[in-house]
Amino acid sequence: MKLGMALLDGRASLVAACDDGVVPLAAASSVPLPADVLGVLAGGDEAMLACLRALAFAARPENAALRRPMAPLLAPLVPGKILGVGRNYADHAKEVGGPALAAPRIFLKPGSSVCGPGAAVRIPPAVTKPDWEAELAVVIGTPARDVEAGNALLHVAGYTALNDVSAREFQFDQPLPMTSFAKGLDGFCPIGPWLVTADEVGEPFDIEVVCRLNGDEVQRGNTRDLIHSVPALIAYLSRYMTLQPGDVIATGTPAGSGHFRKPPRYLRSGDALEIEVARIGTLQHTIA
Ligand code: ZN
Repeated sequence: MKLGMALLDGRASLVAACDDGVVPLAAASSVPLPADVLGVLAGGDEAMLACLRALAFAARPENAALRRPMAPLLAPLVPGKILGVGRNYADHAKEVGGPALAAPRIFLKPGSSVCGPGAAVRIPPAVTKPDWEAELAVVIGTPARDVEAGNALLHVAGYTALNDVSAREFQFDQPLPMTSFAKGLDGFCPIGPWLVTADEVGEPFDIEVVCRLNGDEVQRGNTRDLIHSVPALIAYLSRYMTLQPGDVIATGTPAGSGHFRKPPRYLRSGDALEIEVARIGTLQHTIA
C-alpha cells in the first residue's frame, strides 16, 4: 500500500494510492481512522489493517465514488526525528575524502526542515552552497530499542524518498563541521511522494536511487552498495536512541552531489529536482 497525505477540498487528508488517483481513506472506512500517516503508524497493526480494508472497499467497481483523481500530495509525515547517515556509499565516501569510518556517521534533521512533493524549497539568500542528496528513507513502524540486525526489518513500516538538501558551507567551510545545521534549514528535507509499506517494497538490499537535475541524471546508486545496510543502521541507532513509529532514517547518498563536481554545481532558483527511488516513486520539487 502507498500511504500519503493529499490536499483534498482544501484539507490535508489521509489517502492511499489507487490505479486512477487517490482514495481518501476516512470516507471508505467502516471504523474511525487516524487523521494522518503518523497516526496510522502510532496505531500499529490495527490502524494499518483498517487502512488496507478501506482501500480494498474503495477498489470495488461499485465504489468508484470513493476514488478521487490524483490530488496534490503533501509530505507523507513529519517525523519525530530524522536521522541522517553521512558517507554511507563507497563512491560518495571516496569523493568526500577523509578517513575510513568504522561506525555510521550520524546527524539529525529537524521536523521543521520537512516539506512535501512539489514544494519550492526556498534557499536563504545568505546560503551560497546549497546542494542535493538523493536518498532512500526508512520509516520506523514499531518502537526499536537494542534491536539485533537480524530482527531490525520487523520494525520498518515502509520506505519513502528524501532529498537531504545541504548548505555545504556549514559542512566544509567552517573551522569545525556543522553538519546538522547544514542539513536542517527550513525546507531542506523534501520527502515523499508516498510511504510505501514494507510488504510492497520487499527487502531494502537492491533498490536503485536516482537524482535528476533539470532532467539530467546527476546521481545513480543502489542500496546494495550501502556501507551500513538498513538493518545494520537500525541496530546501531537503537543501541543509543529508541526509534519511534514515524521516525525516519535517511540512509545516505551515492556519488554525484553538486559540491564534489568539478567545477561544483550548487542549486539555484528555478532548478527542478527528481529523486527517483525504485519501488517507491519519484519525489519532485523545485528551488525558489
Ligand atoms: Zn545525506
